[in-house]
Amino acid sequence: MKDLPGVRGRLTSDRALNDLTWLRVGGPADALFQPADIADLQSFLRDLPLGIPVFPMGVGSNLIVRDGGLRAVVIRLGRGFNGIEAEGNRVTAGAAALDAHVARKAADAGIDLTFLRTIPGSIGGALRMNAGCYGSYTADVFVSARAVTRQGEVVTLSADDMNFRYRQTDLPEGAVLIDAVFEGPEGDPAELHARMEAQLKKRDETQPTKDRSAGSTFRNPAGFSSTGRADDVHDLKAWKVIDQAGLRGARRGGAQMSEKHSNFMINTGTATAADLEGLGEEVRKKVYDSSGITLEWEIMRVGEPLTE
Ligand SMILES: Cc1cc2nc3c(=O)[nH]c(=O)nc-3n(C[C@H](O)[C@H](O)[C@H](O)COP(=O)(O)OP(=O)(O)OC[C@H]3O[C@@H](n4cnc5c(N)ncnc54)[C@H](O)[C@@H]3O)c2cc1C
Repeated sequence: MKDLPGVRGRLTSDRALNDLTWLRVGGPADALFQPADIADLQSFLRDLPLGIPVFPMGVGSNLIVRDGGLRAVVIRLGRGFNGIEAEGNRVTAGAAALDAHVARKAADAGIDLTFLRTIPGSIGGALRMNAGCYGSYTADVFVSARAVTRQGEVVTLSADDMNFRYRQTDLPEGAVLIDAVFEGPEGDPAELHARMEAQLKKRDETQPTKDRSAGSTFRNPAGFSSTGRADDVHDLKAWKVIDQAGLRGARRGGAQMSEKHSNFMINTGTATAADLEGLGEEVRKKVYDSSGITLEWEIMRVGEPLTE
């Protein structure tokens, strides 16, 4: 790729993305940039021609990258962005830190961020998706976040700026989240660790945690409340309407709606992005035909399909 600014981190052209996503599918990015630190990220974004799109990526646990790849510079944060520090009842975490590590470090310090323990993403992805489970959302513990804008400026974002909703937020196009401050309730470290162990066990019992998936395929149908707060009710579960349409275990190529949890789509080993997305669209159509409910994708699909 031409016109790319010089960097201190790693910049790789035409980089395959399939090994960077949980579903293990997808074509290459025009370039992959792994910045060394904040200053490196800032100067890259400032000097990158505005016509070249950027796509910030976490650890790819909520992504289908299409088979033709991504005509953009993918920015993936790594070392240099994964620090975690606890002080009082607050935790500051880099956007590349894994949710599970943040939850564990917080618990060591007697801070309850336990809901993050079983979500396999990074803090950047948790912020962007307002990730949550067991009745808690990222929005509930959020204090502030910092991002580098497409122009290379560091900005601090408040909860109002983020505008958290159910599995959605507002983030300016091309902005890269770099870290965040969270505040959690106080708890006894041993009790918090025990709760996380119980949550992990529950996950393994009810979800295909050993398969290649991207978590819930569709959002639970809204229409009740969508503020993204813990008091939200999403009674109408996507897995139920998928079951009612007889689609548990449905297959297309190497893609399958999991037998264990019908809202989890899995790559059985040979799936392409087209198999996965095609199966999802087929499920949406059949659910609509049988119940009148329109399922919305929770998995983000990015990039281009393969052209013959
Ligand atoms: C087995 C399994 C279980 C799951 N369970 C849950 C669950 O209980 N609850 C839940 O909410 N989710 C769940 N997920 C989905 C997923 O883990 C979350 O959405 C997670 O927050 C995504 O984080 P990520 O780092 O993988 O982001 P990615 O998938 O890489 O990206 C997701 C989005 O975040 C954006 N993004 C990532 N990093 C940044 C950044 N630094 N700056 C700006 N934007 C960024 C990307 O552009 C993209 O739009 C599950 C997934 C799996 C595989």
